[in-house]
Amino acid sequence: MPSIFDKILSGEIDCHRVYEDDHTLAFLDIAPLAPGHTLVIPKEAREHLHQLSDEAAAALGRALPRVARAVLAATGAEHYNVLQNNGESAHQAVPHVHFHVIPRLGDQGLGIQWNSGKLEDAEGILKRMHTALTTDESPSR
Ligand code: 5GP
Repeated sequence: MPSIFDKILSGEIDCHRVYEDDHTLAFLDIAPLAPGHTLVIPKEAREHLHQLSDEAAAALGRALPRVARAVLAATGAEHYNVLQNNGESAHQAVPHVHFHVIPRLGDQGLGIQWNSGKLEDAEGILKRMHTALTTDESPSR
């Protein structure tokens, strides 16, 4: 089923367009945490970040700093957060990859609860991650 962002991409639903290139679209969030809160999405329809092709991921990497500069210039903010949620339990509501660019303007912006722990079994997790990375194949389009 097409997500609301697929409908924005197809033009079925309107958005306040901030930036567009061949692979990405950025538009104002409909329920901003601060004025200028912008969403940057790939045109490739994937639910989670790790499912993106290298091409889509690279395009997002190019677009994000550009959009961030526009958000800062337009709002006068000096600081901002880039947030990207994957999965319902990680607060993802729309099942199409999206990055939030959220300026910090006084009390307005992203509220964060950061429950930090202690680094344990680093060697074990590193071994599993390195194995995963050696066999990693980037998803193709
Ligand atoms: P998530 O929690 O999935 O990371 O964030 C989804 C974001 O999409 C929310 O900040 C929400 O306000 C925004 N959003 C949901 N529907 C629409 C829409 O139709 N238009 C726009 N511009 N933003 C939307």
